[in-house]
This record gives sequence, structure tokens and C-alpha cells, in this order.
Amino acid sequence: MMLSEAQVSLFSNFLDRNKRWASPEDVIKLARFYLHDQLKVLESALEVLDSESRITCFESRHADNITEDANSRRSFWRVPAATSEREPYTCTRGGCDCPRYTELAKNVDENHEPMCKHIIAVYIGTALGLVDVTIMPCHEFVKHLTDAGARRKHNSTK
Ligand SMILES: [Zn+2]
Repeated sequence: MMLSEAQVSLFSNFLDRNKRWASPEDVIKLARFYLHDQLKVLESALEVLDSESRITCFESRHADNITEDANSRRSFWRVPAATSEREPYTCTRGGCDCPRYTELAKNVDENHEPMCKHIIAVYIGTALGLVDVTIMPCHEFVKHLTDAGARRKHNSTK
């Protein structure tokens, strides 16, 4: 699916962990509103959140620059794949390494951003408090991110 810029900017509110949402129902209601034309992907994202393994957020901590601004923090997320034998997918603010996202990214235009159920799950999961957060020093963060990318590449060439 493709999201308009407006949808993406509304949606990114969900990533602000300092925000308090009235109730899980409110979060879902808002998500339905933002994604009114994409309800199928929303359902799939909720299934991802329902699965046994949780999403993990890896965040880098800058020793010299402690900031509470969510947008200046560097994060990536590991999202469990539907089949448990498969490696989790890696999502960043810039995308996801699943086949669906990769396919969508080929046809992207300047007014739309590709979006897959994993990224939606990250957003909604964060707002619902269903994401485990691991904060690490910058160099460790980079290593985790490269490792995740390398594993995924290795598996897809098998
Ligand atoms: Zn994905």
C-alpha cells in the first residue's frame, strides 16, 4: 500500500513514546481513521501484534547528547515474521526489508510512501506499549543494524 504524506505525518505521532493515549481502543480507532482506505493492511498489522513474539525496538544512545526528542533518536525495529522459522524483518524509519515493501518501493512516487504491515505494526505497537525497547551505545547500535541486514541477505540467497 501507499500512504500520502498527510497519513504518514499523522501516523508518526504513534512513535512518540512520551505521548499518552487514552486507551488501546482510541489508538485502534485513530489507526482506522488514518488508514481508512487501507483497512486490510491494518488488520494484518494487528495480527503481527497478536503473535507470540514481540517487536523489539533498538535505539542508539548518544553519550554526549541525551535528547528526548523522538525524531532525533536513531532506531530500528525487529518485527517477527508470520512464520516463526523465518528471521524477523528489520524496519527503519525509511522502510522494511520484506519482499512486499521492496516491491512497493520500486513504484514509489513523490507524493506517496510505501508502507507494509510490519511498519504499521511498529507504529501501532509503540502507541499500545507492546514494543520492547533496548537502548544501546551508538557503536553497538550500528553493529546490530548491519548484522540484521547481513543475516537477511544471507537467508534470501539460500
Ligand atoms: Zn515489511
